[in-house]
Parts: sequence; structure tokens; C-alpha cells
Amino acid sequence: MTQPDIIVIGGGIAGISAAAMLAEQSNVVLLETEPQLGMHATGRSAAIFIRNYGNAVLRALNATSAPIFQEPAGISDHSLLSPRGEMLIAREDQLGELETYAARSTGLDRLTPDEAVSMVPILRRAPIAGAVIERDAQDIDVNRMLQGYAGLLRRRGGKTVTNAAVTGLKREQGCWRITTPAGIWQAPIIVNAAGAWADRVAQLAGLAAIGITPLRRSAVLMSAPEGYQIDNWPLFASISESWYAKPDAGKLLISPADEDPVDAQDAWPDDMVLAMGLDRFEQAVTIPVTRPTHSWAGLRSFASDRTPVVGFDPTSDGFFWLAGQGGYGVQTAPALAAVCAGLIQGYSSLPDRTIATALAPDRFRTT
Ligand SMILES: Cc1cc2nc3c(=O)[nH]c(=O)nc-3n(C[C@H](O)[C@H](O)[C@H](O)COP(=O)(O)OP(=O)(O)OC[C@H]3O[C@@H](n4cnc5c(N)ncnc54)[C@H](O)[C@@H]3O)c2cc1C
Repeated sequence: MTQPDIIVIGGGIAGISAAAMLAEQSNVVLLETEPQLGMHATGRSAAIFIRNYGNAVLRALNATSAPIFQEPAGISDHSLLSPRGEMLIAREDQLGELETYAARSTGLDRLTPDEAVSMVPILRRAPIAGAVIERDAQDIDVNRMLQGYAGLLRRRGGKTVTNAAVTGLKREQGCWRITTPAGIWQAPIIVNAAGAWADRVAQLAGLAAIGITPLRRSAVLMSAPEGYQIDNWPLFASISESWYAKPDAGKLLISPADEDPVDAQDAWPDDMVLAMGLDRFEQAVTIPVTRPTHSWAGLRSFASDRTPVVGFDPTSDGFFWLAGQGGYGVQTAPALAAVCAGLIQGYSSLPDRTIATALAPDRFRTT
């Protein structure tokens, strides 16, 4: 039996980044069900950093993460970001939504419908009544980020164990006893970074679920539309998030932006959901949607207020939540890892305490 200071459950971007930060001061072991890191939500994302995406708490986390992406000390020797841009278009009946988004955002430029079409020439001009662009939105190199954090964890003496699904959690004499097929561990603190499975891990430990709901999101890749040079197009999307598309290694990634609640699982796209979503996209463009070369789905897991849940559970000892990152878990990972280390290890440099309060699981444990 091995006894580190902290066990992190889950080897997606949340768990690995937190483990790497915690390992600076503590002896950390990370346990992952799958044979490799990042096989679930993390490996299936659209890999974009959008500063204005999400509610006020998320936007504060995005802002805290940005400089770490640009200068990822210890994680990579150069920026994890590369230029992309995000353009949002609105029909006449969606102009109110566009104004609400613009009013709470920073660094957006207005575009005329003609400017929007000149930037992405496959867009139908007629339905566009307004558009904005966040020029500073960036592609994230998620694999380099994940491997970079894994390397940092290793160099700090931490350990990653794959094929190690946590199947039992029991609190005994001030420690968690953690059962996996790869062995039994003991640690005073566990970090629940199990993504879509976060509530299940809490229940294994005898805690009540918080209500982290996995919502399936799908995507397809199709060949670049013939005759267009797409590499420099921004991500483009309907303001109501009913579809979005972006260039991806010479192809066009299209997502129906679906949000269907499903059980925690190895997610797979639903044909009907894909077909309906691609139809919404097709109505906005002048090109036919050809047969996708690849399709996939992943789970974006949300608490009921769509804000991540980060902090010690007040109903237990040594049980720390790092869950509910929704559609923002890659871009907020550097900030959330810092909050996690700050709360567990008591750094004086804990980022904004109001943010830590807004993330606390206590909000689901009051009655
Ligand atoms: C299509 C799509 C597009 C997205 N686009 C973006 C984007 O552009 N930008 C962005 O920031 N975010 C995006 N997201 C969201 C982002 O991918 C997630 O928020 C993020 O990856 C969540 O990371 P995680 O580590 O919490 O979860 P995961 O990556 O799912 O990791 C959780 C891990 O826990 C493991 N686990 C579960 N139970 C146990 C157990 N009992 N024992 C051991 N291990 C366990 C799982 O095997 C899994 O590997 C997107 C998501 C999807 C699906």
C-alpha cells in the first residue's frame, strides 16, 4: 500500500494540471481508469480559448489562465496558443442576443454583414443582420498542454497510474482507502477530477451527488470546401450557439453545439442529432455539407448553475471537488489548478477569494 499526501482521481486536463501544481509541495499520485491520459472530454474538445465565453466567474478564470497559456513555464517552452479568432453572427431576430453578449464582453470588434462574409466567404449574406469578432480567440495545443503538465508532474516526483479505475473509497483513521485494480492506496486528501463521473466518485465515498450533469456534444470533420483556402478563417458560430465551425488541420470541424443529457460513458454521436445540427449549419452557408470524414462526441459536464465546483466538500473530510468545468475545462484548467493548489496547500497567492467562494461546493450543501 502506497501513501502519498494527495490522490487525484481522473487523468483529464483538470486532474493532470491540478496534480502538477500540487506536486510542487506535496507527494501526489494520479489515478486514471483508461490506459492513457485525456481519452474523454479533454481529447475530444474543439481546442479553442475564448476570453468572453461563459458567465462572469468563468470569464475571470479565462483571464487568469491567459498569461499561463502564453508563457507556460515548466509546461512548454513556447505559447500553447495560436491565432484563430471567433466570429459570432446573428439574424435580425437574434440581434438582442448579440447586444447582450457584446455588452458583457471585452475586446470585441463589430463587423458589418459584408465584412463577416468577406472573412468567411461560404456564409450566406442575406440572413446576417449583425456580427462581432473576438480577434484574440486562440487555438489551444491541447496535447502539448496535457503532456506538458504530465511531464511537470513527473519532474516534481508525482506519479501517474493508468488502468486504475477507483472502485472503492472509504474513510478510515483520517485517511481515504482507495481501491483500484492496480492496487490499494491511502491518502488524507482526494481530489475528485473525474469529469462526467464526478458524482459517481462522490457516491463511492458515501457523499451525496452534487448534480454534475454530463451533456453530450458532437462534432464532425469534413473536407475543406472546394476552391476555398480555409486555414485563416476564424471559428464562426451562430450567436445562439446552435452550431459552430472552425478550420482544423486543413479540414472543417463542424459542431451542432448539442447539449443532450446522457449518463457518464464513452460518448458517441447520435446520427439524428448530427443530421439536425448539420442542417442548421447548412442553412447558414452556401456550400453543401459533404460526407464527414470523421465524427465524435464528448461529455461537457455542468453543475446546475454552469459554474465549476472546486473546493473541499463541507460534508466530509479530505474530499476535494474539481468538477463541472462544462465547455470551458481546457481554457480554465491553468486557473482552476492554481485555485485547487491554493485551497489545499494554503498559498498566500490564492487567486481572487471571491472566485474561490463562487466555485465552492458549499453552495450545493446548504440545506
Ligand atoms: C466537443 C467538445 C468541444 C469542447 N470544446 C472546448 C473548447 O474549445 N475549449 C475548452 O476549454 N473546453 C472545451 N470542451 C470542454 C472540455 O473538453 C472539458 O471541460 C474538459 O476536457 C474537462 O476535463 P476533465 O479533466 O474534467 O474531464 P475528462 O477529460 O473527461 O477527464 C476525466 C477523467 O476521469 C477519469 N475517471 C472517471 N472516473 C474515474 C475513476 N473512478 N477512477 C479513475 N479515473 C476516473 C476518466 O476516465 C477521464 O479520463 C469541449 C468538450 C467537448 C465534448
